[in-house]
Amino acid sequence: MPLRTIVGHGRLLPLLSRAITNDTLPPSLLFSGPAGIGKRRAAVAVAQTINCLEPRTVDGFTRDACGECASCKRIERGVHPDVILIEPGDTGTIKIEQIREVVERAAYRPFGCA
Ligand SMILES: [Zn+2]
Repeated sequence: MPLRTIVGHGRLLPLLSRAITNDTLPPSLLFSGPAGIGKRRAAVAVAQTINCLEPRTVDGFTRDACGECASCKRIERGVHPDVILIEPGDTGTIKIEQIREVVERAAYRPFGCA
Protein backbone atom coordinates (compact mmCIF):
# COMPACT_ATOMS: atom_id res chain seq x y z
CA MET A 1 0.00 0.00 0.00
CA PRO A 2 1.68 3.22 -1.13
CA LEU A 3 1.95 6.16 1.26
CA ARG A 4 -0.44 8.24 -0.86
CA THR A 5 -3.29 5.76 -0.33
CA ILE A 6 -3.19 5.84 3.48
CA VAL A 7 -5.98 7.83 5.07
CA GLY A 8 -4.93 10.22 7.82
CA HIS A 9 -1.44 11.19 8.99
CA GLY A 10 -1.69 14.06 6.48
CA ARG A 11 1.46 15.89 7.54
CA LEU A 12 3.56 12.93 8.63
CA LEU A 13 3.51 10.80 5.49
CA PRO A 14 4.81 13.50 3.10
CA LEU A 15 7.56 14.23 5.65
CA LEU A 16 8.57 10.58 5.64
CA SER A 17 8.49 10.58 1.84
CA ARG A 18 10.77 13.61 1.72
CA ALA A 19 13.18 12.04 4.23
CA ILE A 20 13.36 8.91 2.07
CA THR A 21 13.96 11.03 -1.05
CA ASN A 22 16.70 13.06 0.63
CA ASP A 23 18.21 9.97 2.26
CA THR A 24 17.74 11.56 5.68
CA LEU A 25 15.45 8.95 7.18
CA PRO A 26 16.62 8.07 10.72
CA PRO A 27 18.11 4.59 11.17
CA SER A 28 15.07 3.55 13.18
CA LEU A 29 11.49 4.75 13.48
CA LEU A 30 8.99 4.00 16.21
CA PHE A 31 5.34 4.07 15.20
CA SER A 32 3.32 4.46 18.36
CA GLY A 33 -0.20 5.45 19.25
CA PRO A 34 -3.62 3.99 19.90
CA ALA A 35 -4.66 0.73 18.24
CA GLY A 36 -6.24 1.00 14.83
CA ILE A 37 -4.76 4.31 13.64
CA GLY A 38 -2.66 2.78 10.87
CA LYS A 39 0.77 2.49 12.46
CA ARG A 40 1.52 -0.88 10.90
CA ARG A 41 0.15 0.22 7.53
CA ALA A 42 2.33 3.35 7.56
CA ALA A 43 5.41 1.36 8.55
CA VAL A 44 4.86 -1.15 5.73
CA ALA A 45 4.32 1.72 3.27
CA VAL A 46 7.61 3.30 4.34
CA ALA A 47 9.39 -0.03 3.78
CA GLN A 48 7.78 -0.31 0.35
CA THR A 49 8.77 3.24 -0.55
CA ILE A 50 12.38 2.58 0.38
CA ASN A 51 12.59 -0.75 -1.46
CA CYS A 52 10.28 -0.10 -4.44
CA LEU A 53 11.74 -0.97 -7.83
CA GLU A 54 9.63 1.64 -9.61
CA PRO A 55 9.14 4.53 -7.15
CA ARG A 56 6.97 7.47 -8.13
CA THR A 57 6.59 11.16 -7.42
CA VAL A 58 2.89 11.84 -7.08
CA ASP A 59 0.28 13.76 -5.08
CA GLY A 60 2.70 15.71 -2.91
CA PHE A 61 4.93 12.74 -2.21
CA THR A 62 8.49 13.21 -3.44
CA ARG A 63 8.91 9.43 -3.46
CA ASP A 64 6.25 6.78 -3.05
CA ALA A 65 5.99 3.06 -3.71
CA CYS A 66 4.30 1.77 -6.83
CA GLY A 67 2.56 -0.94 -4.82
CA GLU A 68 2.79 -3.33 -7.76
CA CYS A 69 6.43 -4.35 -8.30
CA ALA A 70 7.91 -7.59 -6.94
CA SER A 71 9.49 -5.79 -4.02
CA CYS A 72 6.27 -4.01 -2.99
CA LYS A 73 4.29 -7.25 -3.27
CA ARG A 74 6.80 -9.19 -1.18
CA ILE A 75 6.77 -6.56 1.53
CA GLU A 76 2.96 -6.57 1.52
CA ARG A 77 2.98 -10.36 1.95
CA GLY A 78 5.69 -10.19 4.62
CA VAL A 79 8.22 -12.23 2.64
CA HIS A 80 10.75 -9.60 1.51
CA PRO A 81 14.24 -10.79 2.56
CA ASP A 82 15.37 -7.34 3.71
CA VAL A 83 12.28 -6.19 5.58
CA ILE A 84 11.69 -7.41 9.11
CA LEU A 85 8.39 -6.60 10.77
CA ILE A 86 8.56 -6.61 14.55
CA GLU A 87 5.27 -6.84 16.37
CA PRO A 88 4.35 -7.21 20.03
CA GLY A 89 3.87 -10.77 21.24
CA ASP A 90 1.13 -12.20 23.44
CA THR A 91 2.12 -9.90 26.28
CA GLY A 92 1.62 -6.82 24.12
CA THR A 93 5.27 -5.87 24.28
CA ILE A 94 8.25 -6.19 21.99
CA LYS A 95 10.94 -8.31 23.61
CA ILE A 96 14.60 -7.34 23.71
CA GLU A 97 15.42 -10.65 21.99
CA GLN A 98 13.39 -9.52 18.97
CA ILE A 99 15.40 -6.32 18.76
CA ARG A 100 18.70 -8.15 19.20
CA GLU A 101 17.82 -10.47 16.32
CA VAL A 102 17.05 -7.50 14.06
CA VAL A 103 20.26 -5.71 15.02
CA GLU A 104 22.21 -8.89 14.23
CA ARG A 105 20.49 -9.29 10.86
CA ALA A 106 21.04 -5.60 10.03
CA ALA A 107 24.78 -6.24 9.99
CA TYR A 108 24.43 -8.41 6.87
CA ARG A 109 24.36 -7.05 3.34
CA PRO A 110 20.87 -6.72 1.85
CA PHE A 111 19.65 -9.50 -0.39
CA GLY A 112 17.74 -7.14 -2.65
CA CYS A 113 14.67 -8.08 -4.59
CA ALA A 114 14.05 -8.19 -8.29
ZN1 LIG B 1 7.06 -0.98 -6.06
